[in-house]
Amino acid sequence: MKTKFLNAALTCLVVFFSTVRVDAQISAVAKDRAVAVTFDDLPVISLRHDLASQSIITRKLLDAIKSNRVPAIGFVNENKLLTDGTLDERRIAFLRMWLDEGLELGNHSFSHPDLHSTPLDVFKQDVIRGEEVTSRLLQAKGRTLRYFRHPFLHTGNSLETKQHFEEFLKERGYRIAPVTIDNSEWIFARAYDLAMQRGDKQLMKRIGRSYIPYMEQKFAYFEQQSMALFGYEMKQILLLHANALNADYFHALAQMMKKRGYNFITLDEALTDKAYTSPDTYAGPTGITWIHRWAITAGKDADFFKGEPSTPAFVMKEAGVRAE
Ligand SMILES: [Zn+2]
Repeated sequence: MKTKFLNAALTCLVVFFSTVRVDAQISAVAKDRAVAVTFDDLPVISLRHDLASQSIITRKLLDAIKSNRVPAIGFVNENKLLTDGTLDERRIAFLRMWLDEGLELGNHSFSHPDLHSTPLDVFKQDVIRGEEVTSRLLQAKGRTLRYFRHPFLHTGNSLETKQHFEEFLKERGYRIAPVTIDNSEWIFARAYDLAMQRGDKQLMKRIGRSYIPYMEQKFAYFEQQSMALFGYEMKQILLLHANALNADYFHALAQMMKKRGYNFITLDEALTDKAYTSPDTYAGPTGITWIHRWAITAGKDADFFKGEPSTPAFVMKEAGVRAE
């Protein structure tokens, strides 16, 4: 009896001390966490194309970015600046709002073509066409257009195309904007937009409420993936879109990141992490996180990639999306 009691007491002590140690390790790591937040498909990607809705989305999103002091970058599709085929100053004004908040803009191509189904020459012309307004707006602020984000994260489905295109980007003065925390926020956003169109506020709330825990799971997964690949938590790059979902929920998302111990950094700062110099010869068909590109290049087996959180079934259904 006595021995049993002693054993139990010892077990308690061991559990207590190991818990303390684990907590200390987690908080030590947590203090150093850093993420660059990037938004694609500017000025706005929504089923709501009218100026008034897009203006509200932009204002709300920028207010949330600003109040959380996030030095974000937005990637522009300039074809969204047209009304009936001509440049619309009222839409260009949305981009000025980003710059007026001190945020950066990058090129996401003119019309969001898919590199995997578009001839390289045509694709390159689309990238050049996508520079016009954005570079002019940046120049007026004494800045230059420096970053390119691949539509669909499709970087070329052959090594030859990939390398040719990367060479082209370099020649035009671009740096590629990778993504490490890849996710299906766009599916949540589509479901959210459709619910909004129907005026289904309850469903909008349900989608919003499941969005934040889903994203937190994605963070936890990619933190672990970085540990497994590099032995430390790298400076992450998060992919989001300029949509109505984030206009309403980016503040909650930023709070979640802060609670996980994240500091918000610029894309420039994120890219100082040596992880981004890892070799990448991935030329597969899908647009995946750079962490997995480096892992594939390093020859990791299937086990390495296990455990990636999936989008809740009801969100997939409401968005009308069959596969992530
Ligand atoms: Zn995009």
